[in-house]
Amino acid sequence: MWDVVVVGGGNAALCAAISAREAGASVLMLEAAPKEWRGGNSQHTRNIRCMHDAPQDVLLESYPEEEYWQDLFKVTGGQTDEALARMVIRSTADCRDWMRRQGVRFQPSLSGTLHLSRTNAFFMGGGKALVNAYYRSARALGVAIRYDAPVTSLDIDDGRFLAARVGSERIEGQACVLAAGGFESNRQWLREVWGCNERGEWPADNFLIRGTRFNQGVMLKFMQDAGADMIGDPSQSHCVAIDARAPLYDGGICTRVDCVSLGIMVNRNGQRFYDEGEDFWPKRYAIWGRLVAMQPDQIGYSVIDAKALGRFMPPVFPGEKADTVAELASKLGLEPAALVRTIAAYNAACRVGRFDHTALDDCHTEGLTPAKSHWAMPIDEPPFHGFALRPGITFTYLSLKSDARARVHFGGRGSPNLFGAGEIISGNVLGKGYTGGIGMAIGTAFGRIAGMEAARSARGPQAGPVSSSREP
Ligand SMILES: Cc1cc2nc3c(=O)[nH]c(=O)nc-3n(C[C@H](O)[C@H](O)[C@H](O)COP(=O)(O)OP(=O)(O)OC[C@H]3O[C@@H](n4cnc5c(N)ncnc54)[C@H](O)[C@@H]3O)c2cc1C
Repeated sequence: MWDVVVVGGGNAALCAAISAREAGASVLMLEAAPKEWRGGNSQHTRNIRCMHDAPQDVLLESYPEEEYWQDLFKVTGGQTDEALARMVIRSTADCRDWMRRQGVRFQPSLSGTLHLSRTNAFFMGGGKALVNAYYRSARALGVAIRYDAPVTSLDIDDGRFLAARVGSERIEGQACVLAAGGFESNRQWLREVWGCNERGEWPADNFLIRGTRFNQGVMLKFMQDAGADMIGDPSQSHCVAIDARAPLYDGGICTRVDCVSLGIMVNRNGQRFYDEGEDFWPKRYAIWGRLVAMQPDQIGYSVIDAKALGRFMPPVFPGEKADTVAELASKLGLEPAALVRTIAAYNAACRVGRFDHTALDDCHTEGLTPAKSHWAMPIDEPPFHGFALRPGITFTYLSLKSDARARVHFGGRGSPNLFGAGEIISGNVLGKGYTGGIGMAIGTAFGRIAGMEAARSARGPQAGPVSSSREP
């Protein structure tokens, strides 16, 4: 029998497995994905948001606990547990030393990375390198790892974990950490929660999944049915408008298109539908997935002219390009007359002041619905560029209720030996909204706590630093 069974293979699972092993437990990690696809959504990440009271290696200036908390409070609209949130925030002050010991390396942020150089530490080599470093470290410590091992159910008795089941195989453990992500890759479940719209469309059928295909929510569903306390709205997700040419899964960060605020966004009918200049792009990029999801066919088109080039990070894949608006419309598959009309009305409504994309400037529209509040410049300088965009789901918010010891709850009572970490419990801290780098902060903080708590629950007071490889 294993001391600790960890379900999952991303950042949270790895932090839990390494921490449990460091505390002397024998640890088995069960990753649903094959080795080459290991690492869940964590393999697509780039950074972790960290509090700091003074400049620190790759982090500029300061980002105190209070400011971090206020940022989190704002994006969640107060749907957060302050005690748990502050615990996560405080843990980011020194978690990088532990991460470095596992082989993770950091680098200063690159330009064009959503203005995060003060607040976020970037992983050298991105999330893939981070995940690889953790796997190497876990192996070296003696964590046993099984790939292609999707856990289908657990044996639980009165809130106590007994065993994990991978198909017909039963794997016993003294304790278990669930770190199996959300249900964003489960298209049937997304279809159920998004339903059918007034046009008779099933919007979720047109969604793309930005990350792994392996986060099918099997553990979430199982735990829900087993009577675990849940938190978070299943219909809510972090949803970005991404390049419509992205693959169904694992398009990752290179499918982002960051020029929306520099031009206009139209739907399939060539009509605008929201204020593209409402606020800075980093604060608004995550609303556009849902906005596009509400449009016919769940598709939108970002249109810019030559003036916008050089003012945003160029997408990895070039969009359509044309010398006239009508030609661009044809290339995008839009009705040319409709796009020409929309752009003519927009251009006529632009009141250009002093353009400044780094400030909420005074370039705006007048008498246009919807308005464009900032950065409104006529689209009149060829060549014109257009990108088709679809909703891209990053993660879902439905989670297991948890506490400061990362315990999973049943009927308001913490389980003695079943813990949660990462996205599967993130709804306790992030009821809605998002601020860049908080996902990895939650996974790292709760992963380490869950691993230590699981080791303690399995081994009792003798849990302590690992001396040698200890497998059953
Ligand atoms: C494109 C993209 C970019 C992102 N960038 C950032 C960023 O820069 N910073 C940031 O903080 N956050 C970012 N995020 C969010 C971040 O990825 C998540 O918050 C974080 O990775 C969650 O970690 P996790 O370990 O809980 O889940 P994951 O890393 O998704 O891991 C879940 C694991 O569980 C496994 N699994 C699922 N079901 C089962 C099962 N039944 N049995 C066994 N294993 C199972 C999966 O295979 C996977 O290995 C990004 C997300 C995406 C998609």
